[in-house]
Amino acid sequence: MNFRKDIPLDQFSTFKTGGKAEIFGEAYSIEDVKEAIQEAKNKRKGVFVLGGGSNVLIPDDDFNCIVLKMNIKGIEWRNINDEEFEVEIGAGENWDGLVEESVNKGLYRVENLSGIPGTVGAAPIQNIGAYGTELSDTLSSVKTIDVSCGKEKVFKKNECEFSYRNSIFKKYPGHFVITSIVLKLSRKGKANVNYKDIGNYISENNISSDELNPSILRDIVLSIRRGKFPDIKKYGTAGSFFKNPVIEKEEFDELKRKFPNIPGFKTESSRIKIPLAWILDNVLNLKGFREGNVGCFEKQPLVIVNFGGASSKEIKNFSELIKKRIKDETNIDVDNEVNVLSDK
Ligand code: NAP
Repeated sequence: MNFRKDIPLDQFSTFKTGGKAEIFGEAYSIEDVKEAIQEAKNKRKGVFVLGGGSNVLIPDDDFNCIVLKMNIKGIEWRNINDEEFEVEIGAGENWDGLVEESVNKGLYRVENLSGIPGTVGAAPIQNIGAYGTELSDTLSSVKTIDVSCGKEKVFKKNECEFSYRNSIFKKYPGHFVITSIVLKLSRKGKANVNYKDIGNYISENNISSDELNPSILRDIVLSIRRGKFPDIKKYGTAGSFFKNPVIEKEEFDELKRKFPNIPGFKTESSRIKIPLAWILDNVLNLKGFREGNVGCFEKQPLVIVNFGGASSKEIKNFSELIKKRIKDETNIDVDNEVNVLSDK
């Protein structure tokens, strides 16, 4: 494997920020990953895996570990029976490319996850989810390399500790390198149209329920996303910067007294999930709020944008300012959805 030195990382981050990687390598196979782990051990450094760079804020200072760009490719379809398929996808494949291929085959289960940027290997880390579907609904296993011993380890779905935007891989960063995932998809299925934005789109465009199939659902989701989320090719952004908070019922009741219109959705654990965008918009009036080159996106304030020339430090400072304002007004401690890497 060819390790290179002093490679600028801003080219690999959708925020278009970040310093240089002291050592940089690209993994095209499991053997490459093992080699990088060994090299990191020899040099007493950590390994940081870079996928699509669409959910990470890379520090401005040079990065003192081995940065491994995940490029393991390959999509292998296996028939289980006439209707069901198992598909194994290399961690370096583009997530949305996989969704498109699945939809083109007429398969259900990932169509509502259309348009999410990033690689397949990053998908289980935060258990990507959108429009009423989560990756964990369809995933069967995750293949990894255990960094501590360099050996292959397969996690079955029930071992991944999936929850809302969380998994064992997020809880223990740097412990496992994901090399591929296995999903179960089906020709037989039902369009999941329960999400408000999808329901509204269907009625506004007079789409009949007979027309609904994975391909139409994909078009609907892509169209809704285009109306709300910035084009990652045009703006420096990593999409939603913060997680939607999940709080105790008592805390929600208290907020409701202060802000009677605040929406909340009951979760399985009977806690309440709050759309943070509502608070940013209605409580803090932050739609389009900007400081220097960084700001909240006009149509979706949960999305922080580098309008050009901002550093990672500026983006981080801006995110902390927003968090402080949320805390002051609502007493909610917000977590980042974006992986903000330490700049020390
Ligand atoms: P939205 O539709 O304005 O919804 C905001 C929040 O309200 C989300 O937390 C959403 O939960 C929740 N919500 C809405 N309807 C709900 C229902 N019927 N039951 C339970 N919870 C409900 O969200 P948005 O910002 O425009 O984003 C659209 C979708 O893309 C959302 O599903 C969002 O989570 C997803 N998204 C995912 C990622 C990611 O995985 N990295 C990044 C950006 C956006 P859910 O989050 O569970 O839907």
